Amino acid sequence: MKPCQSCQTDIDEYLLDKQLEPLRELTADDFNICADCATIVADACVKCSGAVYVPRNESVTPDYCPACRSDLIDCTGHDPGWTRGHVST
Ligand SMILES: [Zn+2]
Ligand SMILES: [Zn+2]
Repeated sequence: MKPCQSCQTDIDEYLLDKQLEPLRELTADDFNICADCATIVADACVKCSGAVYVPRNESVTPDYCPACRSDLIDCTGHDPGWTRGHVST
């Protein structure tokens, strides 16, 4: 087991995978954190109404899920960040 980046406990990948399930594209392998440190907010994505993952260092709930964020990066060629109207030029 890998230790959690944030709290150093061993990551239970089964629990984390269950928690990440609403995100679909992401699995425990994409995270170095335990289920306790992963914050998932259901229905919060402004594009697809899916669940978003709240990064540990973010105090606000993201507007985009990871899938829509990477779509936007593909589309526009720049990273919109996690929130709408937070564009750095
Ligand atoms: Zn943790
Ligand atoms: Zn989305």
